[in-house]
Amino acid sequence: MKKLIFITTLFLSMVICRAGNTIKVTDSPVDYVSTLVGTLSKHSLSTGNTYPAVALPWGMNFWTPQTGTMGDGWAYVYTEDKIRGFKQTHQPSPWMNDYGQFSIMPSSKPVFKQDERASWFSHKAETATPYYYGVYLADHDAYTEFTPTERAVMFRITYPESEMSYLVVDAFDRGSYVKIIPEENRIVGYTTRNSGGVSADFRNWFVIVSDTPFDYVRGVEDENLTGKMEVNASHAGAVVGFKTSKGQKVHLKVASSFISLDQAMLNLNELGDRSFDQIRQAGRDRWNEVLGRFVVEDDNLDNIRTFYSCLYRSVLFPRDLSEIDAQGRRVHYSPHTGEVCPGYLYADTGVWDTFRCLFPLLNLAYPEENVKMQEGYVNHYLESGLLPEWSSPGHRPCMVGNNTASVVADAYLSGLRGYDINALWEAVKAGANSEHPSVKSSGRWGYDYYNKLGYVPCDVNINESAARTLEYAYDDWCIYQLGLTLGKDEAELEQYRKNAMNYRNLYDAEVGLMNGRKKDGSFRRPFSPLKWGGDFTEGNSLHYTWSVFHDVAGLMDLMGGQDRFAASLDNVFEMPPHFDESYYGFVIHEIREMQIMKMGNYAHGNQPIQHMLYLYDWCGQPWKAQKRIRDVMDMMYSAAPDGYCGDEDNGQTSAWYVFSAMGFYPVCPGSGQYAIGSPMFKKMTLNLSDGKKIEISASDNSKDNCYISSMKVNGKKHDANYVTLEQLRSGAKIVYKMTDSPNKERGVSPESRPYSFSDQRQ
Ligand code: CA
Repeated sequence: MKKLIFITTLFLSMVICRAGNTIKVTDSPVDYVSTLVGTLSKHSLSTGNTYPAVALPWGMNFWTPQTGTMGDGWAYVYTEDKIRGFKQTHQPSPWMNDYGQFSIMPSSKPVFKQDERASWFSHKAETATPYYYGVYLADHDAYTEFTPTERAVMFRITYPESEMSYLVVDAFDRGSYVKIIPEENRIVGYTTRNSGGVSADFRNWFVIVSDTPFDYVRGVEDENLTGKMEVNASHAGAVVGFKTSKGQKVHLKVASSFISLDQAMLNLNELGDRSFDQIRQAGRDRWNEVLGRFVVEDDNLDNIRTFYSCLYRSVLFPRDLSEIDAQGRRVHYSPHTGEVCPGYLYADTGVWDTFRCLFPLLNLAYPEENVKMQEGYVNHYLESGLLPEWSSPGHRPCMVGNNTASVVADAYLSGLRGYDINALWEAVKAGANSEHPSVKSSGRWGYDYYNKLGYVPCDVNINESAARTLEYAYDDWCIYQLGLTLGKDEAELEQYRKNAMNYRNLYDAEVGLMNGRKKDGSFRRPFSPLKWGGDFTEGNSLHYTWSVFHDVAGLMDLMGGQDRFAASLDNVFEMPPHFDESYYGFVIHEIREMQIMKMGNYAHGNQPIQHMLYLYDWCGQPWKAQKRIRDVMDMMYSAAPDGYCGDEDNGQTSAWYVFSAMGFYPVCPGSGQYAIGSPMFKKMTLNLSDGKKIEISASDNSKDNCYISSMKVNGKKHDANYVTLEQLRSGAKIVYKMTDSPNKERGVSPESRPYSFSDQRQ
């Protein structure tokens, strides 16, 4: 990668305090971010399945260089040689694909087609940062740079000397519109391309204003250059040209809106009269403000780069779709109704992934952002009647569970206020007792069976029924806890209190694991713990059995006590990575990512198991959690283009690293507890939004010293395998003493284990 550029940047523009070999990231954490992590991916093997999002945190629009063809979810792949355009994107993942996309591309020839305008490029002549991207387009001898705000972007294109240099605007196919207004140096248009989850009249309106008059103009109709200044077609575009002198810079101001062309013009105001460099500096400052909540001090530069690259991916999604109208009011396009509605709306997250630790990270480090997201959830509910389990931007049919209950409950139980929690209370109850009429994954598919039988049966044509049941049970616990805090009466809460224990209904004592169960009460036979999918979701029973986030002690009882529980955990790592892919008919990439990691059946590349390492904290063997967590951090994460071990998934897999590097993790969002693992750095400070600080130190930390020999919280010896949100919020000082061998005396008592619903009920 761009080692030279990186090192130069590091020494010239950053404030680094050095004590011995320790690097303290005090001033410019964004310089440690690589946006290319995870881009060396393909269908059959994901090392992140990301693209270099050039954006502001949670921004409405992201921009990416586009190496893939139009419509290809793999928009930017590290090993590709050519760039076809610079795309405004709203894509959360290649599997969900994009919506509202259009692209801009300089060219030395008057061509439109994506393969004709494509240019060779090199990563050596590429500068990729969160707030700025620059690349040399070799075939056009043009250097292209851009720097975004939340809803707008400025391009700076340096052309060679030429009688005519060109600019291609591609509004993509499936229905688009472009109008060239030469007297205003302006191109406007819209794209309708989407992947579902939008209203029928969906449009993303855009405006492009050049600082250089057009000397050549062609409207493009279905890829053909025409004399038309206005094109409404299946695939509309524009090619304009400028006579350019050597090194001439053309600046483009670009903005868009999901509401209207007028609103897109208003959004252009975000750029104001600022220069390219001023916008770039403001973007850099914003990133440093957000990333700077975390200050890392350590001597391992690689780990610091991994950490901030993960933190960057933790603060992109969900995106803020709201816009500010002419009256200064915050409004949004509703993907549910197509109307313009008041207030916030956030999109592009699948909470099956992100309830686990991405939202909990926001609640701890960026609560003010999640307050706005919660208001957005209120609006999703008011506009569609349910909370979207997968929003991109409206309801999308994908994955299982009803984990918006966790997202809502954890936010409120973490102390977030300032939004309509009563509407959200109605929303989570609606979600628990209904199915979305067409998108089965919003609400609860099989809720009637679940409420009647205590589980979703595996023989009633509802796929992945065991995964659904396990997640519904945890979601019921979330609703129950939220209801308690809201002072709801026992009659209303009874259903959720009782159903929170429904995970017990799927424990198959004969096989010692969770299993699909038929309507008549019998378990699925034959049973294979290795079978991915079927009754489970993108995992097998060995992965899903642990999805009892809220009652690990209860699960331990079912399994026959803590020793047998620990042995079952061990077994997952110690067995070979055998698998049964018959449900899919081919080896899905998540299976391959498990198989190749030399960790048995542990599948960190996918979400269902990502909390499992921490469960050793419940069974008196916390040192195994410590060792294995560090192994995963060391082996499965880096700041290289192949730096993830599976789909990154909208911040979830990144936030796992961020939490784990702090030395704790929210196994059960909503419980107010974080299970302890093994801190990554010698020192970390989290500057909370109210000015308090969480200071975490582990001065003798190293790769070998991954075990906790002892720890103190606020000066007091700490034997518990958890810390509480209350402790953290009040500004905790956590001091870990690290060693290279397990301390088998610490954290072994029953009192030291973290929260379990069963413990509380006794
Ligand atoms: Ca995944």
